[in-house]
Amino acid sequence: MSVPMDSIYQQIILDHYKNPHHHGLIEEFDAEVHHVNPTCGDEVTLRVRLADGAIADLGWDGDGCSISQASTSVMADLVVGKPVAEAMALQERFLELMQSQGNAELTEGDEDVLEDAVAFEGVSKYPARVKCALLGWMAMKSAVVESDRQEETA
Ligand code: ZN
Repeated sequence: MSVPMDSIYQQIILDHYKNPHHHGLIEEFDAEVHHVNPTCGDEVTLRVRLADGAIADLGWDGDGCSISQASTSVMADLVVGKPVAEAMALQERFLELMQSQGNAELTEGDEDVLEDAVAFEGVSKYPARVKCALLGWMAMKSAVVESDRQEETA
């Protein structure tokens, strides 16, 4: 990893990389997705289970750079147990941050809702790394959309 970052933020990313949360595929799930980021070689397989309009559980397995794996870990921490609408709002805010090219202004409100995900703010300055940070979030979003669709047709 050649991205210079604030050392506290770097530590958060390293901690999640070494000790990823919600890591491991869950047995009972509504949808499974597999997303890859070919430019870096990152991949993630992610399963979700929805209940009562919330993300009841989520588990994932992956391979790739520290940013991709740590970001997926942080995302999982944030969305498990949250209503789907709230998880989607977090995803949108994170996407916005990542697309800011380093110009995003983090507010106190962001730190409250995004928690460890603010550690990735510096990544937005490195276009090649943005896809790494977004991989798990995009996977979560498609898994949730797919679960919803299955519920409708069931
Ligand atoms: Zn990567």
